[in-house]
Order: sequence, then C-alpha cells, then structure tokens
Amino acid sequence: MSAGWLRATALLTMGLFSALALGKDKQPTAIVIGGGMSGLTAAYELQENGWQVTLLESKPSLGGRSGLATTEWIGSSRLQPTLHHYLDEFKLKTVDAPEYVRSTGYLIAGRYFSEEDLLKASPDVAEGLKRFDKSLDELAASVSDPLKPLASSTLRTLDSISVKRWLDKLALPPVARALVDQRIRSRYDEPSRLSLLYLAQQARVYRGLPDADMRASRLPGGSTVLAQAFASKLKMVKTDARVSAIVQEKDKATVKVGPTGYSADYVVLTVPLAALDKIAMTPALSPLQQRALKDINYGWRDQMLLKFKKPVWGKTRLSGEVYSDQGLGMLWVEPALKGGANLLINLSGDNARLMQAFGDKQFIDQVLIRFDRIYPGAREFFTGYELRRYGKDPQVGGSYLAYGPGEISLYWRMWEKPLGRVIFAGEHTDALYPGTLEGALRSGERAAEQAQKLVAGKTIEPAEEQVASGGPAPVVNQAKAGETAKKGFFSRWFN
Ligand SMILES: Cc1cc2nc3c(=O)[nH]c(=O)nc-3n(C[C@H](O)[C@H](O)[C@H](O)COP(=O)(O)OP(=O)(O)OC[C@H]3O[C@@H](n4cnc5c(N)ncnc54)[C@H](O)[C@@H]3O)c2cc1C
Repeated sequence: MSAGWLRATALLTMGLFSALALGKDKQPTAIVIGGGMSGLTAAYELQENGWQVTLLESKPSLGGRSGLATTEWIGSSRLQPTLHHYLDEFKLKTVDAPEYVRSTGYLIAGRYFSEEDLLKASPDVAEGLKRFDKSLDELAASVSDPLKPLASSTLRTLDSISVKRWLDKLALPPVARALVDQRIRSRYDEPSRLSLLYLAQQARVYRGLPDADMRASRLPGGSTVLAQAFASKLKMVKTDARVSAIVQEKDKATVKVGPTGYSADYVVLTVPLAALDKIAMTPALSPLQQRALKDINYGWRDQMLLKFKKPVWGKTRLSGEVYSDQGLGMLWVEPALKGGANLLINLSGDNARLMQAFGDKQFIDQVLIRFDRIYPGAREFFTGYELRRYGKDPQVGGSYLAYGPGEISLYWRMWEKPLGRVIFAGEHTDALYPGTLEGALRSGERAAEQAQKLVAGKTIEPAEEQVASGGPAPVVNQAKAGETAKKGFFSRWFN
C-alpha cells in the first residue's frame, strides 16, 4: 500500500471524525493567515477535507518567500518527499538536472574549480574541505534522532557553542575555511551566529543522502508554479489583506484586517516570526513565545538575478551550487527566456547584512564590481536586475530560521503546540526541514491535521522533547549517543 494512499486515508478518516463531532450540518471553518507555501498547503488540505477556508495574504500576490529562480533546483523524492507528493498531485513536471550541476563548484581567486580540479590544483584546500565534511559527519552521527537533538548533556552543550568556534578548532587552511564559511552562510547563516547543535542536527537529517540529491531536477517556472497550482484550487483567497489582530473567544476566533473582522472555528497562522510580532493576540502568546519572536535567529540571504547581454563568464560552468572564496555567495545560471544570459547570485550572512544601508541600485553595483573583477567586462554587458532583500523586509526579518547558540535549548518545537484556536505553521515550525519548501509544506500539512484533531475534540499533545516540559539533562550514555559518537568525541574538540 503506498504511503500517499495511507496518508489520504488518514486525512479522510480524520475528516469523517470531525464531521461527526460537529454534527452533520456544521461545516468546520478556518482562516489561514499567510499565502506562502505553508499557508497554501494548510488551506488546500483543510478544503479537501470539507472545511470552509479563507486565506488572507498581506501582499498583492501569493507564494511568499519562494524564490526568484525561474527554474528552481528540486531535491530528489528521497530528500523532499512532501514536495514531490504535491508536484505529482498537481501534475507539475520537473526536468532532470544535468549531471555536471550535481556536484559543488568553487570560484577561488576568480578561477572556477570543480571538486576534481581542486584535488589536482590545490590538494591542501581539497583536503581541508574533506576534513570539514568528515568532522561534520561525525557531529551528525552524534545526534541519534534529529527530532531529539537535546537527548544528552553532550548535545545540549553543543547548543551553547557557535559553529565559528568549532571551525576555529578545526584549523582549516585559509582558502578551505573561506569556502566552508561561504557554504555555511549560504545554507544557514554566518557561522558566528549559528548553534553548533543546529548544524549537527541538520547534517543528521540529510546524512547518507548524496549532495547530488539536492539538485536532482529543475522545476520550470520555479516554485511560483506550485503556488499557483495550490491557489487555483482554493475557493476563498484575499490578497492585500494584512492581519493586524486575532481575538479568541469561547466558540470562535476573529481575525482583523483593517476595519473588517473575519470569524472562524480555527486560525492557522503561518507568518514568519517578525510578522507574528506585529499581530496583536488575545489571549497573548506565552512570555517565552514573546521572547522567541525577538530572539530566534533568522539567516540573511538576499537574492538577485543579474541580466547580461551574453554569458560574460564564457564557457565556465557557473551552474549548480558555486561558492566563491571572496564572499560572492552561491550562484548559478538561470535560463534567459528573452535572450541574453541570467545569473542568480545569493549574498548571505554578514556579507548581505553589511549592505543593509545601501539602496537597491548601490547594492547591485557593489556585487557587479566584485563580479567584474572575476569576469572583466561584466559591467559593460549588464542590462538589468531583479532583487529580493528578505532581511530588509520588516514582514520577514531575514531569510529563514537558523537557530543561534542556546536557542534550541530554549525554543525547540515550541510552535507545534496550538494556542487555543490558533495553530502555527511555517518553515520555522518544522523540526526537520526548516528553511526549505519541504519544511513549509510539511508544516502546512501538520497544521491541517491538528485542526482536524481539534475539531474532533481531541487534544494535541506537546511535541516530544519540548524543552519547556523537559526534565534535567540525562546522564550521557555514550553507547546510545549515536553510532559513531566515540568516547572523547566532545573533548577532542572542546576539552
Ligand atoms: C533567498 C531564499 C532562497 C531559498 N532557497 C530555497 C531553495 O533553494 N530550496 C528550498 O527548498 N527552500 C528555499 N528557501 C526557503 C523557502 O522558500 C521557504 O522555506 C518557504 O518559502 C517558506 O514558506 P512559508 O509559508 O513558511 O513562509 P512565507 O513564504 O514567508 O509565507 C508567509 C506569508 O505570510 C504573509 N504575511 C506576513 N504577515 C502577514 C499578515 N500580517 N497578514 C497576512 N499575511 C501576512 C507573507 O506576505 C507571506 O506571503 C529559500 C528562501 C529564501 C529566502
């Protein structure tokens, strides 16, 4: 029996229970706040289960943070099963990625290197990168269950350490270190702002899956086409509808958009934490949740599409994931449908934060100046740009969740517990795949399932390992602490 069929049966069964609990004639109602991937998924799943759903989105269009890419890289179905489930459901075709983009590339002092080239040309850099990968794999192996990253006092200590401190101990050759820093800030955030436990937990989630699985195929049209597919199924969507308040009463919740109030049985709240901080909640969030709104770290990743008259990079393979040692983040070539040549550049971490004060045009100029140093003539053939600056957007406040030191210990799985009639979703609420489309979609499904349970009169148990209810740190049991967490693993790094 397929997993998809089981899932559908489970959702349908819950739908029947809820209909019974409400009485035959009462159709359950929900307001979903936020038209990003998580909100679209929650709205779609609830509607499919017989709910009357209203989706409210503050911006003029749907899709939220999903990217600028016109043909987004899609991971394999092993890596992103929920994403593939919806691509299949909406019959959206992906195109297999060419083999050469599946491995990582590097721009060192302006010269392009594949992994094989690097091994020949700079064995010390290649060895440094290999040593980093091996050490990260050891760290990952010390997390036996990525849903329980706080399972031992050793792991809890990792949460208090920054990735930077760990990298300093690794003492990689400088170029290897610059490339590793760039990889980490492109995927998460600046190593100094990142919890080592978070890096280990994320590496554990993806452990054993080849890096090539990250770019198994492309989705023509980018994730926007998926957002449109969801939206085409939804009956009630309101854009330009910014929610300012949510008031919960005994038998309903009312959501305010300007002077208008919308009432429903349940609310699914999918906005990023910076936006949540601007919504007045009655009753209020718990003090710890309020602290989390200000505290939880989001990475910084600005995305720009630079357009050129011709591929100024010549025959160099600038596709897949390419990292430079000079701060230019992950970059890849995008098809230019109207002629010319397009390059997508992600500027991440403090390299992007530093540019905060710059206007859009100055920002692009700064990147072009650097790019022109690598590919002389780039400025001459430059024709235009598109830019998304998530960090500067007060409704987002960064790219996506990237736990800073100490934050997993405080806030682990905090948002999976509903607050009365309000259920939280969004990439930041997914324990395994935060910061990804997969995480956003999973959180929408989870929120829909929780709404079904609540309407059926069931209670939602707090997620296991929620720190608020967690007891004292258990004594470290090395034998159980993961397959390769050898004795002394921790003291080797931090004494
Ligand atoms: C630069 C960048 C690159 C990325 N690259 C990848 C990638 O390659 N692969 C991958 O899998 N993931 C990637 N991601 C992550 C992925 O895009 C996100 O995880 C996902 O889009 C988040 O969806 P969401 O629904 O949780 O949040 P959002 O998309 O932010 O949706 C929340 C929505 O709520 C709306 N909103 C906010 N406040 C209010 C309000 N008060 N009232 C009403 N509506 C409101 C917002 O406008 C927004 O539309 C990337 C993200 C960024 C920023």
